[in-house]
Amino acid sequence: MTTAFICVTCGSQFASSAEPPPECPICQDSRQFVGLDGQQWTSLEELARQHHNMIHQEEPGLYSIHTEPHFAIGERAFLLQTPQGNLLWDCVALLDPATIDAVHDLGGIAGIAISHPHYYTTMVEWSLAFGNAPIHLHAADLEWVMRPHSNIQHWSGNSRNLPGGLVLCHTPGHFDGFQVLHWPSGAGGKGVLLSGDQPQVCMDTRWVSFMYSYPNYVPLGAKAIEEILNRLDPYKFDRIYGAFPKRTVFEEAKKVVKRSAERFMKAIV
Ligand SMILES: [Zn+2]
Ligand SMILES: [Zn+2]
Repeated sequence: MTTAFICVTCGSQFASSAEPPPECPICQDSRQFVGLDGQQWTSLEELARQHHNMIHQEEPGLYSIHTEPHFAIGERAFLLQTPQGNLLWDCVALLDPATIDAVHDLGGIAGIAISHPHYYTTMVEWSLAFGNAPIHLHAADLEWVMRPHSNIQHWSGNSRNLPGGLVLCHTPGHFDGFQVLHWPSGAGGKGVLLSGDQPQVCMDTRWVSFMYSYPNYVPLGAKAIEEILNRLDPYKFDRIYGAFPKRTVFEEAKKVVKRSAERFMKAIV
């Protein structure tokens, strides 16, 4: 019998194997860490026994999905409704029957896009549960896919249009293939950026940050931050939904990004 093991520290699911993988490359990487008690593994079935997902409407057309109690990195995923079908933005490891039912009630999932490998988690399970929804990842992060699957579609270049007027924008930094999602009609038409870890919405949600590693406190350099700002420049947005629950910049987000980058640059020069 084989199991698609899940890393307890980052939530990544691996291709099925009889024994747990020897290590998790995502946690061995200098941006992450192996837990203080050493590498540990779980399975989707085991995870579902003691965890559940909370689904919360953030604004019309946008729902967050978050696992409780805390598991792995603790990020939230988002279900974004569009007239051309729903997109799952980022991902959480737990997918159970209650979540599948709730997401079906909200219109299901037509496509999946994930900011970077820290949130790849069980993306293949989500795709399989929702009609083989295509998973849009940036090709520069191909090496970090731990469970390869034909439903994963790697794209390259600076931007990619998705159904419903959504746009993926490539903003390398935290990861080479980092992508953010622009939702032009969000925030009452003022525009929304779903940013995952970059820019990271800070505890003081009037600010964002730009790190190579968040848990290990390694900042990005000035050049990378300038490039991220340049690439975000064409996109109009007033609100940013960050990776973690309640980490939302509700208004004037474009100004927030600019002044946060200025503050950050001063700190690292
Ligand atoms: Zn891991
Ligand atoms: Zn990350």
